[in-house]
Amino acid sequence: MSSADCLFCKIVAGELPAEIIYESESVIAFRDINAKAPTHALIIPRQHIATINDIGEGDEATVGHLYMAAKAIAAEEGLADDGYRVVMNCNEAAGQTVFHIHLHLLGGRTMGWPPWPPG
Ligand code: 5GP
Ligand code: ZN
Repeated sequence: MSSADCLFCKIVAGELPAEIIYESESVIAFRDINAKAPTHALIIPRQHIATINDIGEGDEATVGHLYMAAKAIAAEEGLADDGYRVVMNCNEAAGQTVFHIHLHLLGGRTMGWPPWPPG
């Protein structure tokens, strides 16, 4: 299933360019166009799922594969030992702007916690 006007479905279909760094049967990953860390990859299912709220029965393996990809990319980029962050935003209050689920993989710098400014 895909959504005709979805940016990330277009990247999956090869209709929009992206720097793809990982591909498997169910998942692809590419570099974020507006990187917030030396490594900032977006890991997405080939299947269109709009938000975490839309993950359904039967999608468990696909969602698990997002994490397997994160682990593989982190190792490939030399981040495994120092550490990295994997995060998925859900809906506007969390900052989701592209409505095709994606794991952000961020690494190569120290990150604060919690991930919002004080106040
Ligand atoms: P969100 O805010 O939904 O959690 O994350 C969306 C991410 O997609 C942002 O970090 C943004 O920089 C990235 N992004 C938006 N449009 C494009 C694009 O056309 N290509 C790539 N590679 N990344 C994009
Ligand atoms: Zn999509």
